[in-house]
Amino acid sequence: MTLSERSGPRAGRGVAVVTGGSRGIGAASARLLARSGWTVCLTYRKEKDAAAEVVRACDAATRAFHAEHGLPGTPTGAIAVAADVEDPASIPAVFTAADSLGQLTVLVNNAGVTDRAARVDEMTVDRLTRMFTINTISVIVCAGEAVRRMSTRHGGPGGSIVNISSAASRLGSPGVYVDYAASKGAVDTFTIGLAREVAGEKVRVNAVRPGIILTDIHATTGDPDRPAQAASSIPAGRPGTADEVADAVAWLCSDGASYTTGAIVDVSGGR
Ligand code: NAP
Repeated sequence: MTLSERSGPRAGRGVAVVTGGSRGIGAASARLLARSGWTVCLTYRKEKDAAAEVVRACDAATRAFHAEHGLPGTPTGAIAVAADVEDPASIPAVFTAADSLGQLTVLVNNAGVTDRAARVDEMTVDRLTRMFTINTISVIVCAGEAVRRMSTRHGGPGGSIVNISSAASRLGSPGVYVDYAASKGAVDTFTIGLAREVAGEKVRVNAVRPGIILTDIHATTGDPDRPAQAASSIPAGRPGTADEVADAVAWLCSDGASYTTGAIVDVSGGR
């Protein structure tokens, strides 16, 4: 049984904003949400062509969902919006663009960065500011925009927020990037607090904590071989795939997770 069959077809599911949807876990999540009936508004920083490719895949998937369930009308097309979340002031425009597609019902707070491996005594204030602005502050700003649109307190229908954390938040990443681990630890704490804050307003808030996943993030930070090298330290014996993380994201967004809020789901092969 597919996710959409479990949840039951409706006249579309509304709009899903996926930050950092041009590549990796965000792209896989955007594609799967589109296959489950959401109209996707994804964001990217600079990979315009990659973002356009994901938009094409999402369009085809949402159309297929409508056809499969005999829903009337043509579904609104997916869009990609350029926004560098290192500047949180760029975020409101993303949600204004998403509003043009319909009612927001999902936010996947995925855009995130690591940095070169370093000890704390080598880290600069610039590095820490960038890390916490992208990984933590912008996650909170995006969630605020989403709550304003989803919460019954603001006249919305409810919805689901999924924050992408990291197994680093419980492992601490000593000698690699303790700053990254701390920025994700803040995401976990924020997830728990916000879930309780808006639970009575039909907004569910959960986090997914990936382990080592096969995406570009490792190359970007100068360690492309990290997944292969770490494989022997992962109980499952291998790194994960972006699609395996997306499965958890999509489930948390589905009606199947209607009583799940404040949860932090490890998708880490036991790591
Ligand atoms: P990725 O393959 O490097 O993709 C990163 C995505 O985020 C891209 O869409 C990128 O846009 C976007 N992005 C990066 N910096 C941005 C910025 N300043 N403003 C806006 N967008 C930005 O990363 P990934 O591995 O899929 O990681 C996604 C999330 O999972 C992150 O939060 C990461 O911390 C978390 N995570 C990953 C792993 C792993 O092993 N891969 C493990 C644990 C947690 P462009 O394409 O335009 O550059």
